[in-house]
Amino acid sequence: MASPQPLAGLKNIAPYIGGESEITGFDRIVKLASNEGAFGPSPKTLEAINAIGNDFHRYPDGDCNELRELISERNNLPKDNIICSAGSDELISLLCRSYAGPGDEILYSAHGFAMYPIYGRTVGADIVAAPENGITVDVDQLLAHVTEKTRLLFIANPNNPTGTYIPKSEVQRLIDGLSKDVLLVLDSAYAEFVDREDFSNGAEFVTANENVVMLRTFSKIYGMGGLRLGWGYAPDEVIDILNRMRSPFNVAYPAMVAGVAAIQDDEFLKMSQEHNIKWLKWTTDSIRDLGLEVPDSVCNFVIVRFPEDKGTNATAESADVFLKSKGIIVRRLGGYGLPDALRISIGLEDEMKIVVEALAEFVGK
Ligand SMILES: *Cc1c(COP(=O)(O)O)cnc(C)c1O
Repeated sequence: MASPQPLAGLKNIAPYIGGESEITGFDRIVKLASNEGAFGPSPKTLEAINAIGNDFHRYPDGDCNELRELISERNNLPKDNIICSAGSDELISLLCRSYAGPGDEILYSAHGFAMYPIYGRTVGADIVAAPENGITVDVDQLLAHVTEKTRLLFIANPNNPTGTYIPKSEVQRLIDGLSKDVLLVLDSAYAEFVDREDFSNGAEFVTANENVVMLRTFSKIYGMGGLRLGWGYAPDEVIDILNRMRSPFNVAYPAMVAGVAAIQDDEFLKMSQEHNIKWLKWTTDSIRDLGLEVPDSVCNFVIVRFPEDKGTNATAESADVFLKSKGIIVRRLGGYGLPDALRISIGLEDEMKIVVEALAEFVGK
């Protein structure tokens, strides 16, 4: 019997698997699986959200004028080149739909963010993964994997799930070597956490080039993952296309209201950054002291590796099972080509102490 058929290839897409959020039988669960920011939304954001009350029967401003104005002011970027979105995921999707199709190639870095290949496949493009230098983006490998068919190149800088970054000199080298008809997407979801002199959030490269886009999100340091709010900064032509492609009311009113409050809460941002610097270092050092391998991270998470050649029975899987038995949820990274690693978000002070204590028990220290 005839039946409706989806576009070719859609059935081969493995859907995104988010961090788990529930295990039963615990009074308290320590959830460190989705990098959502240690504190949740800022007090000013909560105030603004609560003030909405029942006032949401009107359609929102489809152009997000107030929020774009604030993003523009705070980042010193032209408002007309800013677009807001239902999470930065929406922009990844819109970019794929706008710039690639069947027969085209979308290039990314081997341990890059999962949504690039997922959205890339939805438009029928071929996904090409360039090998990394260890677990860090390798500019030479990316350039070596560009072909005549490459339309889009995605890198998260710093990258999730590895926590690594490339300095701005390397981003510049990538741009210099890249054909001008390839759109480079710099996904800076974790930019606010990075405490390095040689890092750029990518905005300067958008300003200086016609083929570079920067993506940002309110889901991580602003603790607003549940509201779905992101934004992008792009050259005129790209902004024009994205505005044609997006839904007319792609950002929900509560998300807009929350974003306006969040971006003005400098105190919360600073507090979150300082917290992360302190507990990222503490967590890294403490887990290394247990004899476990923790690569340097500049994000609000670390990965812990359990390489097989260490000759112990400790694997990422057994560690994960052990942590779960203690009510602690972290992230397995098999889907990212890192089956020997767990990713642990930086949470509150007591959460980090609980997870380090549990890992100490796991390795018998
Ligand atoms: C979390 C994350 C996103 C998605 O953020 P949303 O704004 O919640 O859609 C994008 N890129 C990277 C690298 C992320 O880790």
